Amino acid sequence: MSTAIEIAAAVSAGEQTASSVLESYLSRIDDREAEIHAFNAVTAEEARATAAAIDASVAAGETVGPLAGVPVALKDNMCTTGIATTCSSRMLEDWKPPYDATVVERLREAGAIMVGKTNLDEFAMGSSTENSAFGVTHNPLDVTRVPGGSSGGSAAAVAAGFAPLSLGSDTGGSIRQPAALCGVVGMKPSYGAVSRYGLIAFASSLDQIGPFSATVADSALLYSVIAGHDARDSTSIPLPVPDVQATLDDGVEGLRVGIISELMGEGPLEGFEPEVLARVRDAANALAAAGATVAEVSVPSTIYGLSAYYQIAPAEASSNLARYDGVRYGHREPGGVNTAAMMKASRTAGFGPEVKRRIMLGTYALSAGYYDAFYGKAQRVRTLIINDLAKAYADFDVLLSPTSPCVAFPIGAKSDPLTMYLNDTCTIPSNLAGHPAISVPFGTGADDLPVGVQVLAPMLGEAKMYTVARAIELAASGGQS
Ligand code: GLN
Repeated sequence: MSTAIEIAAAVSAGEQTASSVLESYLSRIDDREAEIHAFNAVTAEEARATAAAIDASVAAGETVGPLAGVPVALKDNMCTTGIATTCSSRMLEDWKPPYDATVVERLREAGAIMVGKTNLDEFAMGSSTENSAFGVTHNPLDVTRVPGGSSGGSAAAVAAGFAPLSLGSDTGGSIRQPAALCGVVGMKPSYGAVSRYGLIAFASSLDQIGPFSATVADSALLYSVIAGHDARDSTSIPLPVPDVQATLDDGVEGLRVGIISELMGEGPLEGFEPEVLARVRDAANALAAAGATVAEVSVPSTIYGLSAYYQIAPAEASSNLARYDGVRYGHREPGGVNTAAMMKASRTAGFGPEVKRRIMLGTYALSAGYYDAFYGKAQRVRTLIINDLAKAYADFDVLLSPTSPCVAFPIGAKSDPLTMYLNDTCTIPSNLAGHPAISVPFGTGADDLPVGVQVLAPMLGEAKMYTVARAIELAASGGQS
């Protein structure tokens, strides 16, 4: 299968038509989508029209963008004009946005072809895509297992060859963890690097949009297209985007790489599969062999990240999701003796169990008398994590850890919420700090399933993060690029 870079080059040069590329991906979707269920909707007709327009531009000798003719799948929590954007929730089942998210506009300007909207845990709350109101997504590498979550549909779409690229959102790990479980590359950018205009909010101080791809170079390309200031998102950083593609092959000679001890099972945190830890060590050894200095580093407060996140994220969610009341937004349940009864009935019918749990947890954490004990304390832990990471980055350029403590698990295996939340132990610190992090496949663990190695970098450290990710990818393929 071709990479996005190869497709864009061939389409721009007129060696291949966008339409023929698209048909080959649509036929793969036809073959396997019934067993995978990566998509809530496949937008084949719109995609064919866009591909024909790209082909006409190439034929007319016009300049086409860096993603010319490249099929891209979008997580179904990003707004697309006139195309249902459901968040995999009954609450938004019939909602067709009147505008495009900024990332969608940028993809279109770059010449990409949107092939469909991908399945997710309802409102991006989960780690397995089992919380979707529209059915689970299956892992393409073993359809009895989960693809991870919440962007499980986007990860599965790339792993199944339904699209060379996709976008997901990552609030506590929802790009990186499914990337790890599906054996693809997934990256969460620095907070503010990619516009969230048109991304349906879950926890606004944590949410970021980022790329899925089969290769690190394709990830860097897609990141370059979507990153950059947007005046419509007040959290967007008004700085130029570093050229992460130019430094991709700089190598790791002289770079200092720290392995986070607490996330390697060397403290109170449990549940790390030994094969996963072994692959992280293998990746670290490969970086050392390539000239990096590698050492262990303690980042003590990371052990509290999970607890802090599960106060802060639900607190923000309870506020963001208050708008779905059957009046301002969302499903309206008929009946009810008055407005309050109608709202209660609408929210009861529109939200699934995990979303209701988060709203209740968050409302409790913010309530008078408990605010300081729960939400306030979690915010203080957040500061501790930022400070501890700053100390680690005084000595190291990047940090390493597993992405997920385990490989893809069987559908239905983690039915109690706390067990599910433990999947996010290694990914959450980067969200709380606002830092970038990427998951790169590196060998296999139990049952020959893929393991993801996470590379963490300081704020706006995407360029070095990508250089290290590329070196890990090279080592994983035995040095063949
Ligand atoms: N698994 C985490 C949660 O359920 C992260 C979700 C996300 O990043 N959107 O909240």
